[in-house]
Amino acid sequence: MKTSLNTKLSELPQNRSLNSSVKALKKLGINTVEELLYNFPYRYVDFSNFSKISTIQAGEIVTIKAKIKTIHARFSFKTRRSLCEAVVSDDTGSIKITWFNQGYLAKILKPGEEVFFSGKIQQYRGLQLINPIHEIVSGQNIHTGRIVPIYHMTEGLYHKSLRSLVKELLTLADSLEDLLPKKILKDFHIKKINETIKEIHFPEQETELKKAKERIIFEEILIQQLAVQTHKAMLEKQNAQKIEQQLELIKKFLTTLPFQLTASQKRALWDIVQDISTSKPMNRLLEGDVGSGKTLVALISALLCAKIGFQVALLAPTEILARQHFETFSGFLKGFLHANEIGLYTQNFNLNAEKVLTKKSQQAAITKGEQKIIIGTHALLSGVAFKQLTLVIIDEQHRFGVQQRALLVKQVKKDNAYTPHLLSMSATPIPRTLALAYYGDLEISRLKHLPSGRKKIITKIVNNNDRLHAYDFIRKQIASGRQAFIVTPRVEESDVSTVKSAKAESARLQKEIFPKAKIGLVHGKLSGQAKEEVMNDFNNKKLDILVATSVIEIGIDIPNATVMIIEDAESFGLAQLHQLRGRVGRSEYQSYCLLFTQSQNSESIKRLEEFSKIEDGAKLAELDLEQRGFGSLFGNEQTGFNLKFSGFFKIEILEKAKQAASLILKESLDLKKYPALQNKVRPLLAQIHLE
Ligand code: ADP
Ligand code: MG
Repeated sequence: MKTSLNTKLSELPQNRSLNSSVKALKKLGINTVEELLYNFPYRYVDFSNFSKISTIQAGEIVTIKAKIKTIHARFSFKTRRSLCEAVVSDDTGSIKITWFNQGYLAKILKPGEEVFFSGKIQQYRGLQLINPIHEIVSGQNIHTGRIVPIYHMTEGLYHKSLRSLVKELLTLADSLEDLLPKKILKDFHIKKINETIKEIHFPEQETELKKAKERIIFEEILIQQLAVQTHKAMLEKQNAQKIEQQLELIKKFLTTLPFQLTASQKRALWDIVQDISTSKPMNRLLEGDVGSGKTLVALISALLCAKIGFQVALLAPTEILARQHFETFSGFLKGFLHANEIGLYTQNFNLNAEKVLTKKSQQAAITKGEQKIIIGTHALLSGVAFKQLTLVIIDEQHRFGVQQRALLVKQVKKDNAYTPHLLSMSATPIPRTLALAYYGDLEISRLKHLPSGRKKIITKIVNNNDRLHAYDFIRKQIASGRQAFIVTPRVEESDVSTVKSAKAESARLQKEIFPKAKIGLVHGKLSGQAKEEVMNDFNNKKLDILVATSVIEIGIDIPNATVMIIEDAESFGLAQLHQLRGRVGRSEYQSYCLLFTQSQNSESIKRLEEFSKIEDGAKLAELDLEQRGFGSLFGNEQTGFNLKFSGFFKIEILEKAKQAASLILKESLDLKKYPALQNKVRPLLAQIHLE
């Protein structure tokens, strides 16, 4: 049988070492030749520059090309293990090599042979090369003397045998079909797939490897872009309900507010009013730092639809947040809508602003169109049929996974002749160019300023010695009528970790630190009802301190709280810390964020110090981007963006891919001309999100 890309590895002519590799590869999900070729190294070691023996120094990792002068094995009684010792030389000098537990090498390597040795130089009775890997010099070296690939390993798999197997099968890369049209390869200077795959496994040069990685990412993003752009073209053919501009209504509503809208709130609202007044479905992202007042913009947009009889769904990622939005909407919209027109639909709650409903009766109220604004969690995505949904608002949209957004799309298509307008909201700032390129032609409104009168939140790092001071400070804040959050990384104690747990910490604080304070506890393991009671008590100032896990990270709005303590602060990401800090500083009172840490790690402390100096969420996001790469902005699984070399992602590649996608679609809108591409794009399109 001739070996091809589809050949199963288990069908290759077997020997013992191959047999073991094949079994191990199977565990990694690699069964065929093609899968093996697409199993890329995750890093490389550069053994391509050999050192001259006379120049090497202790501590260096080197490759030398040397002739074996002597080699022999012996048993060391002192260390009770076998040794293989050799002396090798090049034209500049000679050096001793010692291998531990590899006595057999004396039988394999012969004096006079020329061999590459790669490993670390150590000082032990003169310089020595300890346990190097070796490879007899030939024109075809794959383990040394070059840039060497390092793969993910598993039990039973060894680099030497894996590399040899890959090398042997690599010629089959020539029969890979190139997904990308020839013209695209040429015009965008993209490496062909066969060369790419060869270079990825056994790079000849750093610069060529770079091009190969670029090609892989380009292809991945191109497919994504083809889906995004196809989807956009489909959307453009669809009709949305026109919502007339009701300026009088807006004016009237604004007079009921205790404050003025900020300039950027007005601007965003105006953008939305215009978008939804046309029959083209709105696709707008409302981006604004925590506390910038996104909810109110959403609320007014919702009112505009509801007031003339259409339905609006507002989705929040957590029940606590949905509940809070429901309270906010019911409060602000009193006098504009009937209490039975605003609903809360989550796993644990079925209500309108007047009374508790059964799930069935609420479903009926939604289907009949009695409820106009329905606020909910993902529970709202299944089992509910709307009468006429015209606006969908997704709060903290980055929290919704691809799956959930897909459900929403399906839901909406099922019930509607019209495609709803979409407003997504996020506080995760995305650099503008990145957002535009990534989302296709999404429109963005930015809330640039926080409402006036807000004071800068004072952020401080507190180590264990200053803990009691900080507690004194909280006591004073409480005495003057304010409230405090204390956030811990875990719900419960753990044997393997010393980080604080919410349960134990709230008990300890009550007993030892704040015996007189009223302390509440909230975490994700509480029932919806219990969570709600605690949040209500905190909101109504029946509690002074709320000990919580990061369930309160997003969206929670309790303006009277002025202190946020974060325990084991180093265990949170920058964006998460920023979200947590954003829970305070929501009123005219001076607020504080105290980062408690027991960490001694200087990197961690440095990160916290940077955080304490930066208040701008966009800057923090950039820092996160630099430190953690692309995935920190778009969680990989949430975007379907699963880049093989995600650390290598660059805006320029994205821009290129975006251009290429539009060229390809211009030539063949349905991709009929490129069936292989079409096959890749179709499943993405089926689950694409709405933004
Ligand atoms: P986020 O953008 O983080 O979702 P919210 O919508 O929760 O922020 O708003 C934060 C707080 O600011 C809320 O208490 C809200 O009522 C208040 N707020 C919103 N707009 C203004 C404004 N223009 N002036 C003063 N306070 C405002
Ligand atoms: Mg919010």
